[in-house]
Amino acid sequence: MTEKTAADEPAHSKTIGVVLSDHICAGLIVDHALQGSLLRSPRDTDPQDLEDGNSMVEMPTEAVVAAICDLVVDVAKGHESSITAVGIAIPGLVRQGVVEEAPNLPQLKGARIKDLVARGLTAHNIHAPLVVVNDADAMAAGLASIHGKLDSFIRVWTLGTGIGYGVYPSEDGVWEGGHCVVSVDEKENYCGCGGRGHLEGIMGHRAMRLRFLDMEPEEVFEAANRRHNPDPRCLEFKHLFHRALAAGTASSIHFRGAGKFFLTGYNMRFLDINMLKDYLHQMVKMSSLQSYMLEVVDDDEVTRAIGAAVAAEHVTRRDSYR
Ligand SMILES: [Zn+2]
Repeated sequence: MTEKTAADEPAHSKTIGVVLSDHICAGLIVDHALQGSLLRSPRDTDPQDLEDGNSMVEMPTEAVVAAICDLVVDVAKGHESSITAVGIAIPGLVRQGVVEEAPNLPQLKGARIKDLVARGLTAHNIHAPLVVVNDADAMAAGLASIHGKLDSFIRVWTLGTGIGYGVYPSEDGVWEGGHCVVSVDEKENYCGCGGRGHLEGIMGHRAMRLRFLDMEPEEVFEAANRRHNPDPRCLEFKHLFHRALAAGTASSIHFRGAGKFFLTGYNMRFLDINMLKDYLHQMVKMSSLQSYMLEVVDDDEVTRAIGAAVAAEHVTRRDSYR
């Protein structure tokens, strides 16, 4: 591996991390730590925006780009010439700065987001290299940085509306691990992408709501976890949920080797780590592959922002060696 470790960092690396979700946030990252606090857009001036929750879906691409540029300009104020990279984390499949898929922000599909933002920033005299990454990869980079694992290969599952699969260091490829096939049952068709048997079609929040039309996911797990008379259908699903994640993890281990897996996201509340470990143990039997590790961590915006910045710095440095 040619990756550089934390010890090789130049003094005071100054980068900016930007995260797109149901809003946009950005922060100045100095030596892999957030300086001050994150700035957000839309600003907290219009209460209507906050009540609406996801104002991003309605925003045309030009407005999203303008909002990103405004935030970066604000964050960079006073540091314009010393910023070494800007990283933007986007929920979707991003290749060479182009958004190829973005199921939760469909207006961005096909957008040459890197070129558009770079043009906007150049107008404000910010010329730092720009890197656009998948948000799950940003999470992986952020966790690698915070947990002192910048010299290892790490993977992260994010259990939310969809299922995110992030890797650090970022590698060329698609890495749509949330859509890996974990069932060959033809009735398994709840994935938002339309594909059958997908991990996200079992574990994704949206998919769980589709499966149990009469119950919310919270109620399903509550009924499955009842000490007396657990609901058989819910209990069966709880096992399917854990078998599915074990299957996705086992497949990743069989392709890429053992190593560290972080588990995060708001639906971690449904996870029974011991049940997951039991199933994983049944699925990975080659002794050389059994040295995998699972660790549950909190999902927070700061980690993603740090990750976007760290991933940008990593890619910028790697490209400068080529
Ligand atoms: Zn899918």
